[in-house]
Amino acid sequence: SRLGIALVGLGYYSTDLLAPALQLTKKCYLAGIVTGTPEKAERWKKQYKIPDKNIYNYQNFDQIANNPDIDVVYVVLPPSMHAEYTIRAAKAGKHVFCEKPMAMTVAECESMIKACRDNKVKLAIGYRCQHDPNTREYMRFAKEKTFGKVQMVACGAGYFDPRTDHWKQKKALGGGVMYDMGVYALQGARLATGEEPIAVTAQHFTTRPEIYKDVDETTLFQLQFPSGTVAACHTSFGINMNYLQANCEKGFFKMEPFSSYSGNQGISSQGTIQFPLANQQAKQMDDDAEVILANRSLLVPGEEGLRDIRIVEAIYQAARSGKQVKL
Ligand code: NAD
Repeated sequence: SRLGIALVGLGYYSTDLLAPALQLTKKCYLAGIVTGTPEKAERWKKQYKIPDKNIYNYQNFDQIANNPDIDVVYVVLPPSMHAEYTIRAAKAGKHVFCEKPMAMTVAECESMIKACRDNKVKLAIGYRCQHDPNTREYMRFAKEKTFGKVQMVACGAGYFDPRTDHWKQKKALGGGVMYDMGVYALQGARLATGEEPIAVTAQHFTTRPEIYKDVDETTLFQLQFPSGTVAACHTSFGINMNYLQANCEKGFFKMEPFSSYSGNQGISSQGTIQFPLANQQAKQMDDDAEVILANRSLLVPGEEGLRDIRIVEAIYQAARSGKQVKL
């Protein structure tokens, strides 16, 4: 059997990536939608043959509890809304897939984890890269110490965003590059070392102060790990970059790109890293659906989203104070 997924929030990511991927999945399918825009409901209903009974808006969303077609609610809203919709979905008895960043604060992440635990539903975070075999390969290097100890990591994730009036530029909606692209660089550093940072320093910059008044456009952050490994990371809405490099005692590995939807690849002192992957989002959703169907443990549970937000909070604090923040 296949799990029925309802997408909440039909913006760019749902429209361009998740709905097409759900046409390729084997363990789950697009069963329903939640949208505040009636025209979108009409368009999606026709395009994906979604029955009226599986179409909700933000007011009647909680009635999804009575709909046996929907097994999973996938929250694809601006980050300030992730906690509310995850908790409402959990209370409706639905499993939750929640997009990154998990939420704005550690407190929100903890309440999301608790709501899912209390309602006996699973919570997966949309860190698609962890499902990509190219990422799994460098995670293996870190775990098995293939090139000895990882000594230093450099990681950059950014793109030039031409928009001037979007939630990514508004603090109240969960904007800010550290929450948006910064979590990719943070994941890169954590996964390439296989360690959790113990201290951070950080600095904000902007190439366009007239647009980025409310939130950070470019953030540099440095992580210290228990073994002595250090990471220098950067993230930007003004600069295109996507790479990860790890220098190790007995070699190196580097990925470029490291967190794209497709084509992640790299090279190590042993040779190329290039595993084919037909569709990353389909792989992610099928992996998570399979786990739910078999009642096993998720690859990227809420606890993993929380780990990042704890560090993101420390990074913002470090940038504000100009001082090192210990974790
Ligand atoms: P988007 O702005 O294109 O879409 C957001 C949707 O939320 C829109 O349909 C909008 O109508 C709806 N919405 C409901 N209430 C809103 C409100 N009060 N203000 C603004 N919008 C509101 O954004 P997106 O790029 O699709 O991002 C949505 C989520 O998906 C974010 O959490 C983002 O980080 C995540 N995302 C993840 C990936 C990935 O690779 N995993 C890629 C892109 C986006």
